[in-house]
Amino acid sequence: MNPYSWLDKSLETIHRANWYRSVKAIARKPGAIVELSGKPVVNFASNDYLGLAGDVRLIEAAVAATEAYGTGSTGSRLTSGHKDLHRDLEKAIASLKQTEDALVFSSGYLANLGTVSALVGQRDLILGDLYNHSSLKKGAILSGAKAIDYRHNDIDDLRQKLIENRSLYRRCLITTDSVFSMDGDLCPLPELIAIAEEFECMLLVDEAHGTGVMGKTGAGCVEHFNCTGKELIQIGTLSKALGSLGGYVAGSATLIDFLRNRAASWIYTTALSPADTAAAIKAIEIIKQEASRREQLWQNINYLKQQLPNKNLLPSESPILCLILNTPEAALNKSQQLLEAGIFAPAIRPPTVPTSRIRLSLMATHKRSHLDSLIANF
Ligand SMILES: *Cc1c(COP(=O)(O)O)cnc(C)c1O
Repeated sequence: MNPYSWLDKSLETIHRANWYRSVKAIARKPGAIVELSGKPVVNFASNDYLGLAGDVRLIEAAVAATEAYGTGSTGSRLTSGHKDLHRDLEKAIASLKQTEDALVFSSGYLANLGTVSALVGQRDLILGDLYNHSSLKKGAILSGAKAIDYRHNDIDDLRQKLIENRSLYRRCLITTDSVFSMDGDLCPLPELIAIAEEFECMLLVDEAHGTGVMGKTGAGCVEHFNCTGKELIQIGTLSKALGSLGGYVAGSATLIDFLRNRAASWIYTTALSPADTAAAIKAIEIIKQEASRREQLWQNINYLKQQLPNKNLLPSESPILCLILNTPEAALNKSQQLLEAGIFAPAIRPPTVPTSRIRLSLMATHKRSHLDSLIANF
């Protein structure tokens, strides 16, 4: 028997369940309109909420950094990879978040893997929201801590699980997305902070979809909920509203100093490229200066929420709006039908989410006409 033959069988099973995934190539620059299979389509599939990934100022910053520092950073931050640019970016993140310090990782996924596994170990407990991002769940496994999921956004369930388990373990880490990536709702942050204090737990908030989008200055859900300055572990990505690539942790100077010494996914991987670093610095500058982008995004969100048939719409307080369909096939068919009408909106299916849906993500650079063409197709 060929030891690899199980791969074909496994793929067949994936196909039969309608769970099969494949890539679609986007031609040219990112934006509200992109080219897919040679055809222009309105893009409701990207995480580029502020339309910065194709912004000429980010492109120029990335080109200038490449010319000055080269393409690769050539080593880990602790060996040959560290540049002043990295530190400038970390200071800019800390200033946006109003935390003492920040640390940039090569992706948000790596930031979560490295941070969770550095903060807790075998004698410890992790309580995570059931709908948390894959990187938090995998970080929990990697850490070796006892990992228990609580029901999505259910503080009573979290409390029950803390009562039953907290005293059996040394440290406890509560983990949550701030904006849930596949649903668009928010975590109950003030309640989470209170319960973390009550049970002496650390609290990690993943602001991947919050940064640049939520809060008066775009600092994220922590700002949105008036929790700026609380002792928290904030994670995020440079790859969504910031239009670049990379991840970060923001928090106390002690936390950051500890992670520089203990987060394996930071220590043993190559530093962020000069181009990505410079683009992210420029993005933060723009986020601070141009509140109008965020305001435009929110106008688009509010308009679309009013116009879409809300019986199928999941509750959302973010640019992520989901329309529920009964089966994976129905979601795939709807997505295909939208594509034929010139609208790119992906079907999200199990095992990523429990129920199939069309997931729409809005951008500041969507025009009213783009939104109207989407509405006309529902
Ligand atoms: C996208 C995302 C990540 C991963 O960030 P990358 O920089 O893309 O690796 C982590 N957490 C959440 C909630 C995300 O949505």
